[in-house]
Amino acid sequence: MTDLGARSFADRDTEFYIDESKTPVTVDGYAKGEPMILGCRYCSAQVLLTRDPTDPGVDDFSHDTDCPQRFVRSRWFRRQLTE
Ligand SMILES: [Zn+2]
Repeated sequence: MTDLGARSFADRDTEFYIDESKTPVTVDGYAKGEPMILGCRYCSAQVLLTRDPTDPGVDDFSHDTDCPQRFVRSRWFRRQLTE
């Protein structure tokens, strides 16, 4: 594994949370207890989780400018930049 000097979403020292749906699928499209929102622990950034891999994910977070996780990206994202 190549260390490019940046932290990955999957690294142990990055902190994100997943919120599960608290309502039936008829209310928000997510079954009760199904992961629905992926969010940053350090600021208000969050995205809706979907089954579509082209939808926004951790690489599309709009972190606050002073968020310590502002530059956390997935390894996939970094590979696109470096290859
Ligand atoms: Zn953040």
